[in-house]
Amino acid sequence: MTDRREELARNLARVEERITAACTAAGRERAEVTLVVVTKTYPADDVLILGELGVRQVAENRDQEAAPKAAATTAAPLTWHFVGQLQTNKVRSVLGYASVVQSVDRGRLVTALSREAVRTGQEVTCLIQVALDADESGRGARGGVGPQGVPELADLLADAEGLRLGGLMTVAPLTGPYAGRQREAFGRLMDLSTALRADHPAANMVSAGMSGDLEEAVAAGATHVRVGSAVLGVRPRLG
Ligand SMILES: *Cc1c(COP(=O)(O)O)cnc(C)c1O
Repeated sequence: MTDRREELARNLARVEERITAACTAAGRERAEVTLVVVTKTYPADDVLILGELGVRQVAENRDQEAAPKAAATTAAPLTWHFVGQLQTNKVRSVLGYASVVQSVDRGRLVTALSREAVRTGQEVTCLIQVALDADESGRGARGGVGPQGVPELADLLADAEGLRLGGLMTVAPLTGPYAGRQREAFGRLMDLSTALRADHPAANMVSAGMSGDLEEAVAAGATHVRVGSAVLGVRPRLG
């Protein structure tokens, strides 16, 4: 094995142990939580190694970086998630590789995603990104819709051709009342998920938790954790 392969294998094993321990502590089955590895700022070669090591779900947050990376790794059996702020003019490119969009946060994006999904004959799983730091405008600093905007967006998504309403996603806020309180933030997301499922029972995906707080997310009930630096290493710059 190359050094990098060994490093990634070791990191993956450590993350796997953390997820398993968090599941055990929460009385959950390991199979209830899916690991999505966020590969932003890391090269396509790393993605290929991850595929060889058994990773099947990967995520990126910028189309500019993700599109060529996905194109260079088509040999690996990967499902690509898009987790970043998404402009409608990037939708066509993003749906060229991603089958899951975790960052849907406005009606215009639903319209654009639906049109492109229909045009290309695919079904795209969409999660609503919830901003727990939303201001009066109802938007979060890093994208996302405020909790009060979720039901309307959920109905739009559920009715949109070519799209499947998968559930909810959040990033623990750096500002506002939930700053530094991951447990409370993820608990709030779970409450919103419970409310969502009352109207849309199949929308049971809950994407929460990153390298620093995956334990809190699993404890709260997350079905998907998005882990970057704990697998690939600390990023040289904010990505
Ligand atoms: C970068 C990123 C992650 C992963 O963050 P780490 O702290 O590196 O694990 C998760 N979710 C989103 C939306 C991201 O942009």
